[in-house]
Amino acid sequence: MERLSWDHYFMAQSHLLATRSTCERLFVGATIVRDKRIIAGGYNGSIAGGPHCIDEGCYMIDGHCVRTIHAEMNAILQCAKFGEPTDGAEIYVTHYPCVQCCKAIIQAGIKTVYFAKDYKNHPYANELFEAANVTVKKVPFKKNIDKLFSDKTEA
Ligand SMILES: [Zn+2]
Ligand SMILES: [Zn+2]
Repeated sequence: MERLSWDHYFMAQSHLLATRSTCERLFVGATIVRDKRIIAGGYNGSIAGGPHCIDEGCYMIDGHCVRTIHAEMNAILQCAKFGEPTDGAEIYVTHYPCVQCCKAIIQAGIKTVYFAKDYKNHPYANELFEAANVTVKKVPFKKNIDKLFSDKTEA
């Protein structure tokens, strides 16, 4: 049986979180990891208790939906809320981060970004990651992950 690598395991977790997104414009998930331990996760969604885009439609300003907080930002804020240091951590995201999330990732001290899909990769985000010595690596999501489950896990 093939054993799932840590990279693919954390990337799978981000894809699972993405299914919780409440804005249909993009389903994004993010997982923050330190020392091979998941410390936070986030998806693209409204503030806690707020209305969801999937129920009330998007709130559009200048071609962007402003109702949601991006997955990466939500994961970082979860660390802030519960007092979990992000310095030196790694983040696994389903899509290449936008410029705003890129800045937040750098400022939170996150040193490695793993992403599964290219998404409007902005050259400025790329430039900022490079200047901050943040390693950015593409880890494509393994789609046939169910094949990794053996009968033993279904007992
Ligand atoms: Zn929306
Ligand atoms: Zn973003």
